[in-house]
Amino acid sequence: MIAMTREVDLNRVARQHLEMEGFFTGFAVKGSRDATSCVSAGKESCAYVEQSAPQPRQAGLDPAEAARNLEMLAGEVRQCRLCTLGSSRTHAVPGEGYARARIMFVGEAPGADEDAQGRPFVGRAGQLLDKIIAACGLKREEVFIGNILKCRPPDNREPRPDEIINCLPYLQRQIEALNPEVIVALGAHSTKTLLNTVKPIGQLRGQFHEYYSGIGRPPIKLMATFHPAYLLRNYSEENRRYVWEDMKKVLTELNLPIPERGKS
Ligand code: URA
Repeated sequence: MIAMTREVDLNRVARQHLEMEGFFTGFAVKGSRDATSCVSAGKESCAYVEQSAPQPRQAGLDPAEAARNLEMLAGEVRQCRLCTLGSSRTHAVPGEGYARARIMFVGEAPGADEDAQGRPFVGRAGQLLDKIIAACGLKREEVFIGNILKCRPPDNREPRPDEIINCLPYLQRQIEALNPEVIVALGAHSTKTLLNTVKPIGQLRGQFHEYYSGIGRPPIKLMATFHPAYLLRNYSEENRRYVWEDMKKVLTELNLPIPERGKS
C-alpha cells in the first residue's frame, strides 16, 4: 500500500517536472503554433490586431472598434508629457496585441530594449514571457501585453508613485477597451497597483483576485505571478514551478487545454 502511494507520487512529480522543464525551454506544445510576434518592429499601425486565431470569446465590442479605441489611446500615450519620463524616453510603449484578447499581461515599465523599439517585452524578460505564452499553447498575437508605465524610467529605476498616478489611467482605459477575461499581473508593481494594495507579492501570487474596471461591469479575474525579470534573476526550479502553476490556473479558468509535452 505504502509502495503504491509512493509510485503514484513519483509519477506525479515526474510529470510536473517534465511540464515545468518544457514550459521554460519552449518545448513543442501539442497543437501549438509558432509564437511569432503580431507586429513588425517599429510598425505602430499594426500594434492592435483585429484578427487572430479563433478562440471562444465573450460578447462585447467588435474587434475593429476595440482596435480603433486602442490605437486612439496609443496615440495619446505617444503624445504624453504628463511627467518627466515623457522627455527622457526614446519611444513611448503603449502596449500591443489582439484587440479582443482573452488574456492581458501587465508588466511594470519598459526597459532599454522596449524604449528603443516602442514595443513591450522585447528584451530578455520579453523572450522569457514569449516562452511562457508559447508553453501555454498560445501565440503572442493572441494576447495583449501592456505595462503600468508607458515610458522607461531612467536607469531602469522603480516607477515613482507620481509617475504611476499619471500613467495609470491609460492602462485602465486599455483594460476597459479590451475587457479581457483574465489579467495576468507580472510582478509586485503591476499586482499592487492594479489591486490597490500594499501586500507583498509573495502573499498575492498564485491566486485569482478581482480587478474592477468600472461601475456596473463584472470584475475581471486577475492572476498575480512573478515578473519574468525576477525569474531570470532567481531562476530556481521552485520559482519556475510557481509561475507554471499560476499559468495552468489561468488556462483552466479559460477552459483552455493545458499543453502536454509534445511527442513529435
Ligand atoms: N519589463 C516590463 O515590466 N515591461 C516591459 O515591457 C519590459 C520589461
